[in-house]
Amino acid sequence: MAGRECSIANALAVVGERWSLLALREVMFGERRFDQIARNTGASRDILAARLRKLVEAGVLEKRQYEQHPPRYEYVPTEAGKALQPILMNLMEWGDRYVTEGPPPTVWEHTCGAELPSCTPRRCARAAASRSAASGSYEWAGFSRTVGDP
Ligand SMILES: [Zn+2]
Repeated sequence: MAGRECSIANALAVVGERWSLLALREVMFGERRFDQIARNTGASRDILAARLRKLVEAGVLEKRQYEQHPPRYEYVPTEAGKALQPILMNLMEWGDRYVTEGPPPTVWEHTCGAELPSCTPRRCARAAASRSAASGSYEWAGFSRTVGDP
């Protein structure tokens, strides 16, 4: 049985795997190199490589060369990747509230000074200030940790 035709199912086909979303979390927080993503997610390198490849193929991440000798690459969110930001934030908020026992294990502060998840692309003061600018809407990498392990 194919089941119900649905965009939730279609979206999960792209980002429904654990390591895919965790890799996106790292890219969102500015960790864009394979080794950093591997370290911070705890994913095995084989699986992580496969998930990143799939996200690139699906147009969620772009693999960009930033050094020629030796060749080094980083993963940058595309428009579709950036659009997942509020979903990741909602997932974190939901986890803080319903799954994690005790206080949130990690607290993130955006460059605007607000803590996640109260800073969202829509509510961010900094994003609002630069919204008229051509590109600079919301900085995916503009976060720093105020609580939690480095
Ligand atoms: Zn902000």
